[in-house]
Order: sequence, then structure tokens, then C-alpha cells
Amino acid sequence: MRLSWLALLAGLGFAVCAQDDYSIQRKTMVETQLKARDIYDKATLAAMGKVPREQFVPSEYRFYSYTDGPVSIGEGQTISQPYIVAYMTQALRLKPHHKVLEVGTGSGYQAAILAEIVDSVYTIEIVKPLGLRAKSLLKVLGYDNAIVKIGDGYHGWPEKGPFDAIIVTAGAEAIPKPLIDQLKDGGRMIIPVGPHRGVRQLVQVDKRNGKVRKKSVMAVRFVPFTRNKEDP
Ligand code: SAH
Repeated sequence: MRLSWLALLAGLGFAVCAQDDYSIQRKTMVETQLKARDIYDKATLAAMGKVPREQFVPSEYRFYSYTDGPVSIGEGQTISQPYIVAYMTQALRLKPHHKVLEVGTGSGYQAAILAEIVDSVYTIEIVKPLGLRAKSLLKVLGYDNAIVKIGDGYHGWPEKGPFDAIIVTAGAEAIPKPLIDQLKDGGRMIIPVGPHRGVRQLVQVDKRNGKVRKKSVMAVRFVPFTRNKEDP
């Protein structure tokens, strides 16, 4: 009996230490990978310092959760490097009342970051097992304001639009027209665009007075934007 109590206490102690270790790694990531570079937006930094990235990484890769690069999330997909997540979030100039669309839910990590900052997040994932996993994890972590849909994000989510901001986290060969249509006037989209499997440009798309302006902001590598075969 006494032994099992000891074992339980040791187990609890281990869990608490592991927890602490991740929060230390998270703090260090914010300082060295974000603030030391060009991430200054307070809401972005607070969200990156709060969301437990390790929970979004499958256990076999969890050790790498806070490294300065992308991490595999299974199904041939990756969770983006923390810096890229922060850069894209900051670029959207989010306000708490905003409604945001994400295409490429993946692990759900970027959706959680957005859900820390804005009222409503709609996110679409084409790979069903990933979408389902992200949906239940976001629920468990209490992100009730992040709604996940399984489907082809090329079409956006017209019933929920228009959106104040749109973020695409898979590399597209061209900007899907439905996404431009679902961007509010005054809104901004950030999307990696370029040739299949090559280096792409992160493109910032601004819509103002009905006019669409595009600006390349940096070179990036992203997993490809895919399409459902039967879709037009
Ligand atoms: N934002 C994610 C990482 C995305 S990786 C995170 O925080 O973990 C890119 C994701 O986009 C992959 O999961 C991929 O399956 C998905 N994807 C690719 N093409 C898509 C499409 N047409 N519609 C929706 N999701 C797509």
C-alpha cells in the first residue's frame, strides 16, 4: 500500500516536472525564436507563450515540440515552425472581435493560437484523421470558439464568411478565388504561393475599396495544398 502511494507520488512528481519543462521551453521559444527576431505584436506573443504546443505534436515527436523548425504530425504533414506561426498571425493584424478562416487545420495548433486572440475561428482540413484529431483536442483544451470542418478549403466556408482575416497554411500554386471573394473589405489574407513542392512566397493579400493588392513578404517552404479529386 505504502509502496503504491510512493509510486503515485513519484509519477505525479514526474508529470509536474515534465509540465514545467515544457513551460520553460515555451518561454525560451518566445524569447529566442520570436522576440529576438521581428515578432512584437503583444497578442501574438501572449498566445504563443500560452498554447501548449507539445499537446499538438504526436507523442513520438513531442521532444521536438519547441525546436526552431517544423515538426511531423503524421499523415505526411507538419506543424509549422513556431516563428512562421507567429509571423503569419502577427501579419493578420487581428482584433478580438475578428472572425478568421484558416485553411489547413493540421494539428490544430495555429487554430488554437488564433482562438486565443479572436472571437471566432473557422478552420478546414482535407485529411479526415487530422481534422478529427484536431477537433477533439481543441475541444479538450477548451477552444470552443474554434470550429473545425473536414473538406477542401479551396472553396472557403461561404456560409460563415465574409472573414476579417484568412490564413492558408498549405502551399498553393495560385490563390483560390473563393478565398479572395470571402475576404471582407479592409481584410487581409496570408498565403504561401508558388510552384508545387518548391520554395514559395508568403503572400499578403489586402482588399481595400474592392481592390486586391498582393505583396510577397518572405520565402517559405510549406506542405502542398491538395484538392479532392472529384471537386471542380
Ligand atoms: N496549421 C497547421 C499545419 C498545417 S500543415 C497546424 O497548426 O498544425 C498543412 C495542412 O493543410 C495539412 O494538414 C494538409 O492536410 C492541409 N491541407 C492541404 N490542402 C488542403 C485543402 N485543400 N483544404 C484543407 N486543408 C488542406
